Amino acid sequence: MKIADVTVTLFAWDDLPTLSYGPTVKLAGGSVNLGLLSIVTDDGIVGNAFIGAHRPADLDARLLIQHLKPILSGQDPLDRELLIKRCWGLSRRAPIQAIGAVDVALWDLAGKAAGMPIHQLLGTYRHSIPAYASSPALASAAEYCEQALHYKSLGFRAYKIHAPSPWRDDIAVCTAMRKAVGDAYPLMLDAGWSYDYPLAMKVGRAIEALDYQWFEDPLTEWNIHSYVKLRQKLDIPLMATELPFGGLDQYAPWLMARPPD
Ligand SMILES: [Mg+2]
Repeated sequence: MKIADVTVTLFAWDDLPTLSYGPTVKLAGGSVNLGLLSIVTDDGIVGNAFIGAHRPADLDARLLIQHLKPILSGQDPLDRELLIKRCWGLSRRAPIQAIGAVDVALWDLAGKAAGMPIHQLLGTYRHSIPAYASSPALASAAEYCEQALHYKSLGFRAYKIHAPSPWRDDIAVCTAMRKAVGDAYPLMLDAGWSYDYPLAMKVGRAIEALDYQWFEDPLTEWNIHSYVKLRQKLDIPLMATELPFGGLDQYAPWLMARPPD
């Protein structure tokens, strides 16, 4: 089996709302350019992945076709680790979003070639997981409470707040939320990498006292030293870090330093 073609089909996703997930992540809304990556084999199997979640897809798609397609063309798509390693070798030309899309499409293709879903290919561990609702940044504590109660009524088993910032407002929202949903309902705070160490300590201590489930991405992902200090001083579990821009290898120092839970 060989890779016969690699294409990205661009399309528009219209009428998206403008959304913010705190000070560091803002989505423009309106019409957003997305792409569907297709890796096609000579026996007709197609592996797919989307590209363009956080920014328009056309730039990443162009770089993918220009730099990553030549790595993939004519190769066995099941040599996934080899191909992804070669893609990472060009990470100064093709962004992580393009490399990630190739990785997802190659896994999709491997599942289709094997005739089984990816979880079976990897070795299935569980067949269902509880879902939580995740907020965008909202304008007031009242809006968070209203939304959390709505999702709770739909059966969601927990709710995660994306911090509106600044930090005093974040604590006020978290306090109001605990009152609104009751003591037993799991709540989490995602700070979207927006604090420095002293602010992360203040907010972390506050939500620890409010019995929050975890404290997500309080600091930038390269601030491992401060994450270790937070880990030593806070009891609430830390969740970090969501986006390793250097790829999975970037987790090695995290595992060595053991800052998150
Ligand atoms: Mg997050």
